[in-house]
Amino acid sequence: LLESKNNELYQIKKLHFKDDGLNPTLSLKDRASVIACVKALENNNRTIACASTGNAASSLAGNAAKMGLKTVIFVPKRAPIGKLTQLLVFGANVIKVDGDYKKAFSLSKKAIEHFGWYNRNAAINPNLIEGKKTVALEIAEQLDFDVPDWVVVSVGDGCTIGGVYKGFYDLLQLNMIKKIPKILGVQALGCDPFYQAFINDKPLEETDEFTIADSIAVGIPRNPVKGLNAVKKSKGSYLVVSDEEIMKAMKLLAESEGIFAEPAASAAFAGFIKARSENLIKEEETVTVIITGNGLKDTKNALTILEEPVLLEDDLEELIRYFKKEKRG
Ligand SMILES: *Cc1c(COP(=O)(O)O)cnc(C)c1O
Repeated sequence: LLESKNNELYQIKKLHFKDDGLNPTLSLKDRASVIACVKALENNNRTIACASTGNAASSLAGNAAKMGLKTVIFVPKRAPIGKLTQLLVFGANVIKVDGDYKKAFSLSKKAIEHFGWYNRNAAINPNLIEGKKTVALEIAEQLDFDVPDWVVVSVGDGCTIGGVYKGFYDLLQLNMIKKIPKILGVQALGCDPFYQAFINDKPLEETDEFTIADSIAVGIPRNPVKGLNAVKKSKGSYLVVSDEEIMKAMKLLAESEGIFAEPAASAAFAGFIKARSENLIKEEETVTVIITGNGLKDTKNALTILEEPVLLEDDLEELIRYFKKEKRG
């Protein structure tokens, strides 16, 4: 847990980041994948399969490699190269499905039924939320069980936010914390089924998947009930951020906190910024933002908002002119 020194900049009493981009395969998904692997071994199942936009897959592939299990992974056509590389280097059997995540999920479901592989698809497998909830347990433990007023997390399928709620819920039942933090679920403007359902108070409806935040580009969330309940029962909220806000937040997070987050993870921070500007989160409140995945997984999108570095000769005069002109240095 990292405490921000930029309270004045964000106008907030206390802000922490839980950086799950530092997990073994660089995303929060490791918390669920390790449980899936243990459960597959318990079931004497040597092959695990899942459909994923990237992180569930790369994390499953890494954890399975460590435990001597085989993996079959169904990915949508647009999976970012960093995540795809992880799959290949961990030795997964990768099936690219021509289409979006919905298509990849659909084929994985049919294949898992046909071949009898262990199923790591988040909504189907109830054990995964037990893994994901450990992020809440850790946040509480690292804050000496004095939990923040808000926890902010980005939402795709709704399993992560369900796990966050479950972790705090369990701690409350054990009288180890005094309250469940309000949970702020953040979605991308171009793919916001939970947000729409929340503000219109109706069941989830399928949406398009138009966002660079690939890990939360989920048009048909597989955990609709848990994802909505986490926010409603914690008296939190959902909000949406645009791709532009996500990329601005990515840059700000990196420059001011030293944390490089992938777009889907930056969305949570963008959501925090927006919630502050709309005063949904109040200045005198305390907040933990969960960073769900590492920026190195998707350098292509990051580079679109960054400047190419200058190229100079081995010439000090030229360097001095450059710094003068650019007012840098
Ligand atoms: C999977 C993922 C999410 C969202 O988790 P869901 O369980 O799909 O809601 C958010 N950020 C990153 C980086 C992820 O990999």
